[in-house]
Amino acid sequence: MLTQPHLLGISDLTGGDIGMILDLAESYVAQGAGRHKHCGGLEGRTIVTMFFEPSTRTQASFELAGQRLGADVLNMSMQTSSLKKGESLIDTALTLNAMRPDLLVVRHSASGAVSLLAQKVTCAVINAGDGRHEHPTQALLDALTIRRRKGRLQGLTVAICGDIAHSRVARSNILLLGKMGNRVRLIGPPTLIPSGIERMGVEVTDDMGAGLAGADVVMMLRLQRERMDGGFVPSAREYYHRFGLDAEKLALARSDAIVMHPGPMNRGVEIDGTIADDINRSVIQEQVEMGVAVRMAVLDLLSRREEVAEGVDV
Ligand code: ASP
Repeated sequence: MLTQPHLLGISDLTGGDIGMILDLAESYVAQGAGRHKHCGGLEGRTIVTMFFEPSTRTQASFELAGQRLGADVLNMSMQTSSLKKGESLIDTALTLNAMRPDLLVVRHSASGAVSLLAQKVTCAVINAGDGRHEHPTQALLDALTIRRRKGRLQGLTVAICGDIAHSRVARSNILLLGKMGNRVRLIGPPTLIPSGIERMGVEVTDDMGAGLAGADVVMMLRLQRERMDGGFVPSAREYYHRFGLDAEKLALARSDAIVMHPGPMNRGVEIDGTIADDINRSVIQEQVEMGVAVRMAVLDLLSRREEVAEGVDV
């Protein structure tokens, strides 16, 4: 049983919770690769997804995960919902809550919005990304990918490169990899590294050579221009020259280092297309596959908990 009724962030999880999710997800990987992908477990349950920000991988994989477990999945179209007519996020959530879903999957552009919502509803809530705060299922699927490829999830050196400042993926990964006993290095221009981030137990550099040396895992991040309110980098061309991952820079990492990217990817900005497609180094497609398995495990484990009906603060 997980220690938490909701999945709001990696910060709330214990190492035991993380291990439990990854072990269960592992069993769903084989299931997903086979011909019979349905395995039940959530029959009769209702999952509602609410994405206030665009998503390709996350929303699709939550939907597939719910269906493979036998649940009814309702994807709310937030573009056409009553929010457009001025209804508040909380009122929309309370309306949906009255339809008695068992699990609510929420993405929102404001950091903290998902945990606020979790205090108002009676079902389990999963954070599918809130602002630049956390994206816990991304870090969990990254962890599963690393564990399968490296045979372990501790004692590794992981380099996270690029736009750290605007990335909830980076934050959740820093927390998870730190909890599991790995060394995390952040590489990026100083304008894209939040000041004081060293307090999270990471090393920081703006030099790809120093940051990639000895790395077992190289995780590239997108420049999140939608969250930038000014010029954080001189130009995409110059950024690629200094921080874009190409064969030359990848050669600075360990010869068996794997390359990761949460997507969506901007080829020629943070990563060279040839590296992204190199099946000997890139595990980007495997990350997507692990995403379905991890989301199945999270939905399954949260639905096993008692209803969070008590102590609701509406
Ligand atoms: N898909 C990830 C997220 O939602 C990363 C990105 O958008 O660059 O945070």
